[in-house]
Amino acid sequence: MKTAIFGIGLIGGSAAKDLRAAGFCTEILGVGRSAANSQIALDLGLVDKIVSKDEAIEQADLIILTVPVNYLIDELLYVLDKAQPHQIITDMGSTKGHIIDAIKNHPNRRQYVASHPMAGTENSGPLAAIDDLFRDKVCIICDKENSNKEAVTLIEKMYKTLGMRIKYMEAHQHDMHAAYISHISHISSFVLAATVLEKEKDEEAILEMAGGGFESTVRLAKSSPEMWSPIFHQNKNYLLEVMDTYIEKMYHFRNLINKNKTEELTKFMKDANEIRKILK
Ligand code: NAP
Repeated sequence: MKTAIFGIGLIGGSAAKDLRAAGFCTEILGVGRSAANSQIALDLGLVDKIVSKDEAIEQADLIILTVPVNYLIDELLYVLDKAQPHQIITDMGSTKGHIIDAIKNHPNRRQYVASHPMAGTENSGPLAAIDDLFRDKVCIICDKENSNKEAVTLIEKMYKTLGMRIKYMEAHQHDMHAAYISHISHISSFVLAATVLEKEKDEEAILEMAGGGFESTVRLAKSSPEMWSPIFHQNKNYLLEVMDTYIEKMYHFRNLINKNKTEELTKFMKDANEIRKILK
């Protein structure tokens, strides 16, 4: 199977590595943006060739879009407009509602399967691509009833090849869950890093005292703003809701400390410990 990947960064490059290693693809065509990163993707062997969008659409059986979400709608419309009847198209973007709404009446809609592999790191670009990024993680496929059966079957097979467990959801429901689980963690990490950088001017102290706790909580603040700010904009409605709750809880926590309410503070944290039952 000839596969084209639009956007050969962390996600596209990591998918390319594992799909090639598993023999899922016979050839991988890369569609990049900058010449420099396209050359890196080629040198690393993530893709066999760098091609134009039109060449990719002419040659590929499967087209995977892994560009940042603000480019996804345009790229998907471009591909759907020119898609040949046998081609199957998916995207791996972190938001789904906007994308699905934008293409819902397209005549080739059924050749497209909306998906979001819930796996990543704080690094980006082709040099960040790693083996086994997706293994044992969950992939969400959205609104599968609006895609052809053969298209869904192939995309399920692709994610199973990557070692993922598959769940199905309506696109807007996906965006709500993603806001609560994935997007707010990135926001709290960005804000924590900004707070510490503003208050703690001594870089050496940060380095020396940043034990496991700070380092692991702030890791996501190293993530790419170019990738994340369009996600926050596209998922604004759900994110504002979750941020309001977060800010409320932060104020409540502050009050408990300020008013020396030790018992209530302990209870608050004990309740939060319940997360252990879900995440071991
Ligand atoms: P990334 O490492 O920054 O890679 C994105 C790549 O897309 C870059 O290599 C960039 O090229 C290229 N690109 C940008 N616009 C393009 C265009 N119009 N045409 C072709 N290539 C283009 O980002 P990523 O982390 O892989 O994220 C990619 C997608 O996966 C996003 O939609 C994101 O929402 C989704 N996702 C991310 C994560 C995560 O945790 N990172 C997890 C799941 C899903 P240059 O390098 O030349 O700029």
